[in-house]
Amino acid sequence: MSALATEVCVIGGGLAGASTALHLARRSVPVVLLEKGLAGAQASGVNFGGVRQNGRHLAEVPLAMRSRREIWDNLPALIGVDGEFTVTGHLRLARTEADARVLETFSAEAAKLGLATDMVRGQALRERWPWLSGVPVAGCFCPNDGHANPRLVAPAFARAARAACAEVREGEEASAIERDGAGFRVATRSGLELKARVLVNAAGAWGAGLAARFGEPVTMHTIAPQMIVTEPAPHRVAPVLGIVGGAIYLRQIARGNVIFGGGDGIADTATTRHHVVPDATIDAAAVAHELIPHLRHLMIIRVWTGIEGETDDLIPVIGASRTTPGLFHAFGFSGHGFQLGPMAGKILAELILDGATPSPIAPFAIGRFAPRS
Ligand SMILES: Cc1cc2nc3c(=O)[nH]c(=O)nc-3n(C[C@H](O)[C@H](O)[C@H](O)COP(=O)(O)OP(=O)(O)OC[C@H]3O[C@@H](n4cnc5c(N)ncnc54)[C@H](O)[C@@H]3O)c2cc1C
Repeated sequence: MSALATEVCVIGGGLAGASTALHLARRSVPVVLLEKGLAGAQASGVNFGGVRQNGRHLAEVPLAMRSRREIWDNLPALIGVDGEFTVTGHLRLARTEADARVLETFSAEAAKLGLATDMVRGQALRERWPWLSGVPVAGCFCPNDGHANPRLVAPAFARAARAACAEVREGEEASAIERDGAGFRVATRSGLELKARVLVNAAGAWGAGLAARFGEPVTMHTIAPQMIVTEPAPHRVAPVLGIVGGAIYLRQIARGNVIFGGGDGIADTATTRHHVVPDATIDAAAVAHELIPHLRHLMIIRVWTGIEGETDDLIPVIGASRTTPGLFHAFGFSGHGFQLGPMAGKILAELILDGATPSPIAPFAIGRFAPRS
């Protein structure tokens, strides 16, 4: 069978890969996206839905701010749906004075990068958000953060890429990948063969394995953040909540259900199976009840988890390969890729087509994991 020829082959149909394909296709570049299952069905489609700049690693703040402006403010024009994106603000809470200092440091450092947040202390927290218990001692509020529905947003990126003339092939697992002259030859398990000048590794929790094939080790492990949703209740909790240390994160959607995450389940990238650990659900619920007492009365109606790649330094890999011309990476989002992943796709399109990006991506270079000689 003769190989299908294209300019760019993207491996992975999550937000990072689908957004790369979308931004390339919008610039009239022939692109084929290979997704082993359904586009947007892994982490991108099952996550918490937090769209936050607040509390990000400082290296991610410029990216998160650009993502907020260019992706999230622009969602219907970009992907044809609003994805239930709602601007509610994000409130990150501290339960101890030491944690309050973490918030203050973030707020001061983020301000230098242009991100405005308010520090709110003590009783002022309860006056502004009366449903909070007396446990939090301080909060850092970022007013233009919010949340969206990943089940709508993730597949919509792949649909939009397809509408922009990217060829999105679902059920195609890239299994053999090799250099071929100045480009790449990719074969899938079902027998599809593809030649491309450029290869994009947007394989999520499987991305480190793919990078290793090109002599680029990345210290990344698999995590399975646990999610919980309650029955609907009158809408009271407006901002998305986080907490220093990450014990829980919580949002209430317009329909009234309270969605929160906390703890880790078990995931296996070989089988793509993942499941919740009931004790972690109980622990997360206890923290949620401690912060917002009225939640005690709500029944949990569903729990789930997903497969995510977490790097050792908790920030993603974004940028050109160090070993292989024409290869680009965007993976290992470490729990932050719902907000950042679509922006990473736009950045890869800039790198591929313009050879540069206005975003400061040096901290995300894959070379940081190279063994020191
Ligand atoms: C439960 C949970 C909660 C989270 N909450 C948040 C949050 O609130 N806010 C936030 O910003 N982030 C959050 N995240 C993180 C976010 O969901 C991820 O960082 C992001 O979706 C990663 O996108 P991706 O495209 O890199 O990976 P994925 O969505 O995993 O996509 C990678 C795709 O590559 C495919 N693939 C892999 N190997 C191959 C191959 N060989 N051939 C073809 N296809 C292949 C996979 O099938 C998969 O579909 C959360 C994650 C989880 C799991």
